Amino acid sequence: MLTNRQLFLRHVAQTNVAPLMLEIEKAEGVYLYDTNGKSYLDLIAGIAVSNVGHSHPKVVEAVKQQAEKYMHLMVYGEFVETPQVKYAERLCQFLPKALDNVYFTNSGAEATEGAMKLAKRATGRTKFVSFKQSYHGSTQGALSVMGNEYFKQQFRPLLPDTLQLRYNNMEDLAQISCRTAAVILEPVQAESGVTVPSVDFMHALRKQCDETGALLIVDEAQTGLGRTGKMFAFEHYGIEPDILLLAKAFGGGMPLGAFISSSDRMKLLTDNPVLGHITTFGGHPVCCAAGLAAFNVLTEENRIAEVERKGQLFEKLLVHPKINSVQRKGLMMALTFESFEMNKMIIDKCIEQGVLTDWFLFAPQCMRIAPPLIITEAQIETACAVIVKAINDL
Ligand code: PMP
Repeated sequence: MLTNRQLFLRHVAQTNVAPLMLEIEKAEGVYLYDTNGKSYLDLIAGIAVSNVGHSHPKVVEAVKQQAEKYMHLMVYGEFVETPQVKYAERLCQFLPKALDNVYFTNSGAEATEGAMKLAKRATGRTKFVSFKQSYHGSTQGALSVMGNEYFKQQFRPLLPDTLQLRYNNMEDLAQISCRTAAVILEPVQAESGVTVPSVDFMHALRKQCDETGALLIVDEAQTGLGRTGKMFAFEHYGIEPDILLLAKAFGGGMPLGAFISSSDRMKLLTDNPVLGHITTFGGHPVCCAAGLAAFNVLTEENRIAEVERKGQLFEKLLVHPKINSVQRKGLMMALTFESFEMNKMIIDKCIEQGVLTDWFLFAPQCMRIAPPLIITEAQIETACAVIVKAINDL
């Protein structure tokens, strides 16, 4: 009989040449437990998803309660589904006034697609500007604005009218013009290995968008919901997006994304054509119930206030001559090593020693640290001791 691992490789489509192959039986808080009972302290949170930890009891309870009431009823936007209504209302209390209308999606990529369509409809323009080393999803519209040629080249033709500028480069902003429908950016670039832009750059970007009539789409799939030490990373810069994207942690561990804008702008999707974006499962009631429960944990337990201090503790403990540099915003952190090979050796040793981490899509020489935000100081100390030992044992 084939093992689950063998069946995984045989019947579950593979896109990775070297998957981690951990077989997890249970996950709770900041720990994963494999089928041999070995525990792993999770430093990546399912890639910035499990902000309140794995299977938080309040999230599990919300899922159970909602599943018992109803699951899928009808395609998006027809029925008044209480979990959607409550989550949208609660979320909007934390957003600028102009962001008062939430379109729930299944994923981050779908949020990007919806936002791009909305921007075309709102401006009558077709050109999209994004940034080198940016990631906004793997569907073809989102891929068109991705800032990495290697991952795009075999899938052309993509959208024709796109341009990638240098992130955090003032000069390039002049290329945003009256032909630009929207500029899409991550307020901290994740997959480039955590790149934090300057406040001046973000202000200049906002200004250039205002002057040219281009919309600003801020993609907070990774940075949103407290990851960087504020509810939304755009708050660090004192700017407001025209369209905000959420995903990942937004569903509390269930699949959920959103593009959020003003009611007036969003109304354009009801006209010419009607049903301007259609989704069957977007805003699934169980996902919205889970997301809202996680959101309430974050806000009621004031978890976001602890994020920066925890990030600083990581930074203090992760000092080593072989760590070339550290990039960090809150609990979104990258350690740069000399090469991918060195990074991979350290990561493998960490996993062996029960600490789970990985690297970044566009920065394989960087180690990712993005744990559940509920990680304790003692757990941070344990994790850092394992990482430092792994480096020493090279
Ligand atoms: N935007 C950003 C910034 C992301 O990091 C991701 C996922 N890594 C996405 C969009 C796409 O999200 P999803 O994988 O849910 O489609």
